[in-house]
Amino acid sequence: MKKEILHKVRYPLLLAAAAILAVWLWTARKSDRPVEQAEIKPREKIYLRREGTFRPGETLEKVLLRDIYDRVLADELIQGFARVFDVRKIRGDRRYTILTDSAGVVHGFEYYPDAVKTVRVLRDSTGVLQPELVQVPLIKRTLALTGEVRTTLYDAVKAMGESDELIAAFSDLFQWDIDFFVDPRVGDEFRMVYEAEYALDPSRPDSLGEFIRYGRVLSGQYRSGSAVRTALYFEQGERGGYYDLEGKSFQKTFLKSPLNYRRISSHFSGGRRHPILKIVRPHLGVDFVAAEGTPVVAAADGVVIEKGYEGGGLGNFIRIRHKNPRFATVYGHLSGFGPGIAIGQAVQQRDVVGYVGRTGLATGPHLHYCFYENGRPVNPLKIKNSSGDPIPAGEMERFKGVREEQLALLAAAPRRGEEVPGVIAGTGPGHMAMPRL
Ligand SMILES: [Zn+2]
Repeated sequence: MKKEILHKVRYPLLLAAAAILAVWLWTARKSDRPVEQAEIKPREKIYLRREGTFRPGETLEKVLLRDIYDRVLADELIQGFARVFDVRKIRGDRRYTILTDSAGVVHGFEYYPDAVKTVRVLRDSTGVLQPELVQVPLIKRTLALTGEVRTTLYDAVKAMGESDELIAAFSDLFQWDIDFFVDPRVGDEFRMVYEAEYALDPSRPDSLGEFIRYGRVLSGQYRSGSAVRTALYFEQGERGGYYDLEGKSFQKTFLKSPLNYRRISSHFSGGRRHPILKIVRPHLGVDFVAAEGTPVVAAADGVVIEKGYEGGGLGNFIRIRHKNPRFATVYGHLSGFGPGIAIGQAVQQRDVVGYVGRTGLATGPHLHYCFYENGRPVNPLKIKNSSGDPIPAGEMERFKGVREEQLALLAAAPRRGEEVPGVIAGTGPGHMAMPRL
């Protein structure tokens, strides 16, 4: 009896052993082929794309049922989708894509809530639907344009279909040298090379993508009559700035003090006891003590916008509005004015605008110097005079490379913002040359 049972059992046991061996051999062989396994990763799979657009008021459910005819799969996709995106925020004008294989089997779904996001629900290698919110990578392109001022720079750039931000970025380059509200004349010419970021449209892999925002202005040129100014962006390590063609910084600075003085008799303060009026009132400037008649010079380029006499206060004074219209300076208690100083007169940094005196409310000869930023008095000794160091000798070769390249791009700038072959040499690490798409 025992022997008989053993005999009956032996055959199935052999079968089971053979099956285990077969499975082991099969899995072993499979793991010997990692290349093939990598090939079936869903990311690398090429899907067929079936596109559509949500109509106003259409729900995800309605769209999926219409396009894939499979209730169970539709529910699965909706569940996954809802884990990364609020289905109620689907908008009636945005596109979606259904991803299928060549046999028409649905593997996933994509929705594009805006230009820089993709909601994707896609089967992974184990067949499970995985939802994810993907940030669309931005592509940086280099563009160039040139134009002529007919009324204002603003109008000219606007007429090219570009926006305020680009005008602001361009005028920033020359903020210490050109007052774009006052200086531009009809016939002036501007050129610029600038970066812009685009989001590749994931639903349209062949398109150029959608404009997202402007990047940096890499170079700018402004020609007014025979005067041409060129500013080039150059990066050294982490820091970048604008330089002229010789490698001198475009970042101009205000003079620390507009005269040779002996000492400061009164600092900028919110409240001090006035030496004559004997009352506490703010002193919104700095008093520099110097001999009567010491020349006082303009702290930076600008235009004289006020010249007058204030008996109970500043005495003889002038006010200069600077090229960078955010800033103005006032010079008080002058004994007299510099040659040719009149309202509307343009002055350059270090031009003599007056002489130290004691006119108005003053105990002795000194200059009362006020500095205004956006109309507010600030301490002139504390203003951030960011450095205007020239390009160091060791960087000069690299700078010259950037200069030649940018000058060529500026010279060839088209009449409308167009992409240029952007090889931005020497703009520092992490700054990749843009691929042409
Ligand atoms: Zn003072």
